[in-house]
Amino acid sequence: MGNPLRVRRPIAELAAKGQVIEIADKLRNFERLAGIVEADLATLDPDKIPRGWRDAAVTGHLEFGFADAQQQVPSLVGDVTVTVDAVCQRCLESFRLPLSAELRLLPTTLEQGVSEGAGFERWELDDDRVCPADIVEEVLIMAMPLSAMHDTAVACREYEPAGGKVERTVKPFAALKDRMDQDT
Ligand SMILES: [Zn+2]
Repeated sequence: MGNPLRVRRPIAELAAKGQVIEIADKLRNFERLAGIVEADLATLDPDKIPRGWRDAAVTGHLEFGFADAQQQVPSLVGDVTVTVDAVCQRCLESFRLPLSAELRLLPTTLEQGVSEGAGFERWELDDDRVCPADIVEEVLIMAMPLSAMHDTAVACREYEPAGGKVERTVKPFAALKDRMDQDT
């Protein structure tokens, strides 16, 4: 049988079975996504990289079926969530970044003939078989913000509220670091 999340099967078969997949996985098993997180964290000092970031839980629920009453148009609905470690682009400290996505997809190899009504989005497949984990990974990668940042002043020491710049006059660590750089 294998893990239904990672087996490539024809989309028509998944839809006809009404395949349901409960996702309880780890970031390390999504290599492309883990690679992106790893490259981001690599900008931190090695001792600042959060331990166990690869073990972040990827959870969610997928349901294959049909979008139309005639059972001609395979669909995939569900949701997926992971909280990754990321580097705040404002203060350059690591923080926990929740990523989540709702899926309402019409996986298809057809160029045309698939309606995107009812809130569904067309999802192009290379061939008629699909590995659900690939879709999950792609959707999570698309959910990543272009620039990850703490969203509150409490968490982020470089936070500047919109419309008003907060002047920071005391930067003890920066001053200390400057002095250490000069000493060496
Ligand atoms: Zn920050």
